[in-house]
Formats: sequence, structure tokens, C-alpha cells
Amino acid sequence: MNVRDSEAVSALLEAAGYRHAATEDEADLVIVNSCSVREKAEDKALGKLGLLCATKRERPNRIIGLMGCMAQRLGEAVFRRVPKLDFAVGTRRNGAIPSLVKRVENGERNILEQSSPDEIPDAPEAHEDLGFSAFVTILLGCNRRCSYCIVPDVRGREYSRPAREIIAEISALAKHGVREVTLLGQSVMNYGRMNPVWFDDDPPSAGGFKEPFSRLLEAVSAVPGILRVRFTSGHPSGVTDELVRAMSSLPHICHHLHLPVQSGSDRILKSMRRGYTRAMYLEACNKLYTAMPDFVLTTDVIVGYPTETEAEFEETRSLMYEAKFGNAFIFKYSPRPGTPSAAMEDDVTDAEKCRRDEVLLEDQDRRGQALNEQLVGSIQQVLVEGRSLRNAARWSGRSDGNKIVVFEPTPAVREGTIVPVRIVRAAPQTLYGELV
Ligand code: SAH
Ligand code: SF4
Repeated sequence: MNVRDSEAVSALLEAAGYRHAATEDEADLVIVNSCSVREKAEDKALGKLGLLCATKRERPNRIIGLMGCMAQRLGEAVFRRVPKLDFAVGTRRNGAIPSLVKRVENGERNILEQSSPDEIPDAPEAHEDLGFSAFVTILLGCNRRCSYCIVPDVRGREYSRPAREIIAEISALAKHGVREVTLLGQSVMNYGRMNPVWFDDDPPSAGGFKEPFSRLLEAVSAVPGILRVRFTSGHPSGVTDELVRAMSSLPHICHHLHLPVQSGSDRILKSMRRGYTRAMYLEACNKLYTAMPDFVLTTDVIVGYPTETEAEFEETRSLMYEAKFGNAFIFKYSPRPGTPSAAMEDDVTDAEKCRRDEVLLEDQDRRGQALNEQLVGSIQQVLVEGRSLRNAARWSGRSDGNKIVVFEPTPAVREGTIVPVRIVRAAPQTLYGELV
């Protein structure tokens, strides 16, 4: 989501006449986009801002700004932490950035812009010309209020963008060569639940879909030029029969879902206020795997949530095997000010959090290797991204299930096209294959 927001701001600034600098050093304007999900992310942003502001001694006209969740969370306090910061702009005010930069150019300092929780941004969702894959925000904010999470405080209340606006945005992207879109939202399948997104004169769904999110998937997959549609993040309550039917029957919808589980223990899930049990979560996974045997699930997990016992951690471990996760992001619990769980003692030691983190990462490597080995001999449809990062003689791309596939290209292979690759070798995070 932050990558997408940065891109939108960059595009707005370009439209206002600014140009990308070749390096950070050369830039006369630097804006740090920040994340508040964990304390470490905030510390990193503060450290970076400190270093950037120190360069103002030699370059007094250099403009340094802060955007994103931290600006929204800290407000005026951010200028006490970073006194030389020129501006800080909260989550739904990105459209104001070009005018804020102008005000700084005219001599103003320490400008703060925060948004209200239910503000609807009026800035267009600008995109840069970044190739064949694009992020598209469809849902802002979050109403769920999981006990540990700062997102609802900093990103505001849930708001779904009108379907017509989203389709128009994706159509324009496709005309510029975009072939893959990833729809973004915190609980993305909640799309259209809090505010209407379709209007009376919109055509009825050809597939008979009634839920707004399934209708949106149908409409996006029908946009000429779009070859792949992904979305993130999911919540098990959104894995309805209709969604499973949409994902398995519509063309271009990838058989992949990022479905954060956070924990495999019912007691911890309840304390986290996630709104599902282990059994409900696994039921959602089974529905997807049954309808689409090639389905790939990825997840987020928090280790060391307050009071998490060794036995409860082991429940998370076993759930991760049962759910057959293709990949997982593991987070060490970090208390966030003002969230319900911050009132609980952060009683799992850092050393223990690190150990649990490593155990899950090792498990994931082993599981990734085993799952990927099952794909040896199969043919994967790969959206070609370009040269492999590790070996420029090879190219890489992503499978439908979002796995990185490395192969040797022929001169005819083009970036942004889908090619069939037979898998010959597997690693935990990567598949190696040859063009068919
Ligand atoms: N909306 C998504 C998650 C957004 S935050 C969802 O509900 O799944 C991204 C991830 O950060 C979360 O899935 C969680 O694993 C992690 N996270 C959020 N708050 C955290 C905290 N206080 N400490 C550690 N990890 C956290
Ligand atoms: Fe945070 Fe929960 Fe909302 Fe995800 S669903 S953003 S974890 S409150």
C-alpha cells in the first residue's frame, strides 16, 4: 500500500513539473513515506529523516518531507523529534503534497496536514509509467480494530472507491501497457460493504454475482488488455461461496491469495479480535483448495503476542503446515500506543520472539521446498518481468500462484507477456524452468 501511495505522490509531483533525481544525493526534495505497524519501522523512518535533515546544513534549500501513517499518528509531535522537517502529511492528504512543497519553497516550515478518519481523498489516483504491473487501491482504511493494530487509527474508516472510477483507472492503465493489477485494501473483500459502489445504471453481472467484490473482480477481469488480477489482503470472512466461484470461474483472476492468519491458537485469535477461529480459517483454505487444486496461499503471522505460550506458538506452527502456505511474512509483536493490546504486558522476551521467528522461517523454507518440488515437471504460465536479479543471462517472472520462476529466454521473449515454462528444479522461494 505504501509503494502504491509513493507512486501516486511521485506522479502528482511530476505532473506539477518536478523530475526524478538520478540518486537520492542529487535530490532537492526528499519525501519519506512511513509505516506505523511496528515500532521498528517508525524508528527507521525517524533515523532516515534525521540523516536527511542533517544534509540541510550544507544544502539549506533542500526540502525534506514526511508522508504516511507516522505523520498521521504523531501530528505536531513529529516536529519535536525532527525539528528541521519541512512538512508532514497524513494518510488521506497526499493530494496536497505539491501545494505543500510550493509553500515550503515560499519559506514556510514545519507544515502539518492531517486527515480526518472519514475523509474521502479528492486527488486523482495518479500513476507513473512503471511497466506492466500496477497496484490499484480499491478500499481505504479499516473498521476491524484487531487488538494489536494501529492501522484503523492512522488510515481511518473503511471507504470503498466507486466501481466505475476503479474500472476507468484500470482501463487507462491497460491502454498504457499494464497487464497485471493488484487490488489493494486492508480487508479487501469487504469492498462495497460499508458504502455503495455500484449504481442503478450499471449493467447486471453476467455471471450472476451479487456481492460487490465478486462483481468488481468480474468487471476488472473483463478490461481489455488485463491478463492477471490479484488482490490483497484477504480475511477468511470474505472467502464466501460466491467469491470462490468468482475466483475459479472468471478468466485472469490469479489462483493466489494473501490471507493473513496471525495465529493458530483460538485463545490468541480471540484476544487479537480477529473474528475467526482456527477451524474457520482452515475451512476457508479448504474451500479454496477444493475448488482450485493449484491454489497458492500466503500469510502473515505475529509471534510473541502478549501471553502467547510455547504450546500456543506450536499451534501456529501446525496450522501453517495444515494450511500449506506457499510463503509467509513473520512479524515480532510490537506494542503500538493506544491499541487495546498495548495495555497488556509485552511479556514474551525479545530473545523468545526471535527464536519463534526463526523457527517459523525455517519451517517455511522446508515447506516451500516441499511444495515447490511438487511443481517440478509442471508447466507454469509465467508473466515475464525481465532479467533475473541474480544472473542477468537468465530471466524471471511470476507464476499464476505468485512464485518467482527463473528461465533462459529466447530472443522472442518479451517483458510483460505470459509464457509457458516447464519447471525442472525447485528451491524454497524460487522455481527454475525452461521455456516450452
Ligand atoms: N489488513 C491486514 C494486515 C495489515 S498490517 C490484515 O488484517 O491481515 C500487515 C501485517 O503487519 C499484519 O498482517 C500483521 O501480521 C503485522 N502487524 C500488524 N500490527 C502489528 C504489531 N503491532 N506488531 C507486529 N506485527 C504487526
Ligand atoms: Fe489491522 Fe486488523 Fe484492520 Fe488488518 S484487519 S488493518 S490487522 S485492524
